[in-house]
Amino acid sequence: MIQLDNTIAPAQDILDELAEYQSAVDAKPDFLARSAEGKAKFSAKNKKSNKVFNAVKKSLTEMCSGARRCVYCEDSVGDEVEHFFPKDLYPEKVFRWDNYVYACGNCNGPKNNKFAVFHNTTGVFQTVNPPPKQPAQQPPAGDPALINPRVEDPLAYCMLDLAGTFKFVIIATTNTREYKKADYTYNDVLRLNHEEREFLRQAREEAYGDYKARLSEYVQQRNAGSPAAKLQNMITQLQKKSHPTVWKEMQRYHQKGILQGVDVRLDALFAQAPEALSW
Ligand SMILES: [Zn+2]
Repeated sequence: MIQLDNTIAPAQDILDELAEYQSAVDAKPDFLARSAEGKAKFSAKNKKSNKVFNAVKKSLTEMCSGARRCVYCEDSVGDEVEHFFPKDLYPEKVFRWDNYVYACGNCNGPKNNKFAVFHNTTGVFQTVNPPPKQPAQQPPAGDPALINPRVEDPLAYCMLDLAGTFKFVIIATTNTREYKKADYTYNDVLRLNHEEREFLRQAREEAYGDYKARLSEYVQQRNAGSPAAKLQNMITQLQKKSHPTVWKEMQRYHQKGILQGVDVRLDALFAQAPEALSW
């Protein structure tokens, strides 16, 4: 899961049209009516023939890593406009640009309308999605208990274990709000460590080898005096790879001084090419 570049946005006329769609939803008299209207209107508008959503998708594509990878798993193609705040539960955010990310069907399907908050008054963690096939109810006010990649860095909550398992390990202390939020996001909702998504773990391991090979090749080419344009192209290609979290963690392990205990050769590559720490 990666943090997205929140400075990317569609043009103002597109945002204005979204706001107009939204006001029609907000005008409905009660929560159930707004929830139903939001869902129906989103299905009607999220079509290839709709220029507003074509522009929305163009901006979401710009936000994605590499070849339009899903924000959550960083592996499959992101081809569904996903609402971070589920549209059933938060009809007031159905047409809000800052509520959209591009996700893949494998992530978006199971996520569906799963959501939880830390209740504003009690601070208690509370899931707010209805049981299957039950209508949604208006959630209580509270901070989201799901990490929002539009505004937060998921790597502030977790580290990827590069030493062997290639699973996400929660950094926060147990029994804290941050721990609960990371556990709910990574394990309950997105299941990024789950054995049913073993292919993701394998893909992260493969990405590690690939990033390392690219860095090694870059150092060789740079030392051999290759032209700047060729080197820049190598950097650009590396930055377009799937699983950018793996690369971010390789950099972080080196910066924290723990990479030496994991991979001496990779650590030495970063020492030889410190410029790679900002790619
Ligand atoms: Zn995905």
